[in-house]
Amino acid sequence: MTYAYDPQNIFARILRGEIPNRTVFENAHALAFHDINPQAPVHVLVIPKGAYMSLDHFAAEASAEEQAGFMAAVAEVCRISGLAPGFRAIANTREDGLQEVPHFHLHILGGRSLGRMLP
Ligand code: AMP
Repeated sequence: MTYAYDPQNIFARILRGEIPNRTVFENAHALAFHDINPQAPVHVLVIPKGAYMSLDHFAAEASAEEQAGFMAAVAEVCRISGLAPGFRAIANTREDGLQEVPHFHLHILGGRSLGRMLP
């Protein structure tokens, strides 16, 4: 599969500092920030700094260092956000997954019981 990345997407603009964000955590390979339209008491988006459009793109083509940096950021978000009781991680992907922003992002949702995975 080939992956076409649009550098004008809103998360690319956040990474370039063109749009503000409420940062939760940042390292060399990832940025985590509060979702602008939270669906739970904790709703943080973790994004890689590299130009990857989706989870499968990131998993297929990101370096081991980028992937490790991303997962380290996920761990920090969970620790900082007090998610020991549990959480849900969602990566909406392309059309069937109703992905709105074409830069890979992992939603980290928690702070309450989240109910069943799908309605
Ligand atoms: P999706 O692509 O469907 O997985 O969801 C994109 C998510 O990005 C939605 O939950 C939006 O609320 C969120 N979002 C869109 N623009 C911003 C922004 N400028 N800052 C933070 N979150 C945003």
